[in-house]
Amino acid sequence: MKPLLSLLLFIVSLMIQAQERTLVKADRLFDGVQLHYNWGVIVSGSQIEKVGPISELNSIEVNNTVSYPNSTISPGLIEGHSHLLLYPYNQTDWNTQVLKEADTYRAIRGVVHAENTLQAGFTTVRDLGSEGAGYADVDLKKAINDGIVPGPRMLVAGRAIVATGSYGPKGFDRDQELMLGAEASDGNDLIRTVRDQIGKGADVIKVYADYRWGPNGEAKPTFTLQELKLICEVAHSSGRSVVAHASSLEAIRRAIEAGVQTIEHGDELDRSTAQLMRERGVYFYPTLAAVESIESYRGWNKESQKETERLKKKKNSFSIALKEGVSIGMGGDVGVYPHGENALEMELMQEYGMKSLEVLKSTTSLNAKAFNLHNLGQLKEGFKADIIIVNGDPSKDIHQMRSVLWVMKEGKVYKD
Ligand SMILES: [Zn+2]
Repeated sequence: MKPLLSLLLFIVSLMIQAQERTLVKADRLFDGVQLHYNWGVIVSGSQIEKVGPISELNSIEVNNTVSYPNSTISPGLIEGHSHLLLYPYNQTDWNTQVLKEADTYRAIRGVVHAENTLQAGFTTVRDLGSEGAGYADVDLKKAINDGIVPGPRMLVAGRAIVATGSYGPKGFDRDQELMLGAEASDGNDLIRTVRDQIGKGADVIKVYADYRWGPNGEAKPTFTLQELKLICEVAHSSGRSVVAHASSLEAIRRAIEAGVQTIEHGDELDRSTAQLMRERGVYFYPTLAAVESIESYRGWNKESQKETERLKKKKNSFSIALKEGVSIGMGGDVGVYPHGENALEMELMQEYGMKSLEVLKSTTSLNAKAFNLHNLGQLKEGFKADIIIVNGDPSKDIHQMRSVLWVMKEGKVYKD
């Protein structure tokens, strides 16, 4: 047995040596939590082997070295709220995309969106609903994982769940049986719907806890607390978390009470509800960029005009969450605005009062934690080698997140 064992060990050691080893170095390194100067990363295969001062890493033998002047290394970015199957509504409105464009056409567009996202430094996305494109997100994810097309790692929601009567497309002749942008389900049938979506590939369950279906078109709760609890119970028992679209205060409260992991939008968030979020460890995704984009599509000019009521509300809920210490994740609802311009949300988070370094944390380590991605979002030994290099110092100037110079996902370079 002994010679066999030593032969095996010899083969294993050869395999380790055969793995490509790369040293990535720059003036600054943001490890997902803090900034270091003159640090680097050693990548071996698809993993991070070592992180530390360049002076310590220089002695390690490597196959190649990556270095850009005046730049910052960061973990691969994590987009918290994307729709890779949608594209900006000022090009084609949502109704048309949902009703007139075939799932295949939308999936082909999705391939391009995925590549743009990866090129922008986002190596992971949480994609929150195909909006009428069935399970095309599940297939896009598979094509990326199989190496057929380049794109970010995807956590997908599939069709997402809405209450009967609440969701769009709306305003058509009632004689038409229209396909909705998500799957309608109610009461006890939610048990079957959640299980069905899981069976078809959903990594997370997305539920619309409210929608603009109030008497005057305002956001009002859709599901009862009992229904939301049922959704959470079924999803949680499968090891999946629940994401709630919720703008109105009552829907936010019900969703928290039911046990969701993240709140999307949260426009009417108040102090006591923010405190409840913090206590329960519920994450907040304010989606600032989507609102700014939609307002600008409606004619609002940021340079010359005052904020609209919607934007005032958004700023208010964001600053309350910030003040109350709610964990705020980065997720802009990208798709409403162009894929690849994900950094817009980061710029707005900074503009609305969050420090740049905190924005960087939200986009890396905090998002990884919120999505239970245990080996992503930080530059740490044994973590997946998702690494990017950006120009300049984004901890001082967040706009630098738009100039991504180099992208690596799981040890493979996609932008150089
Ligand atoms: Zn969304």
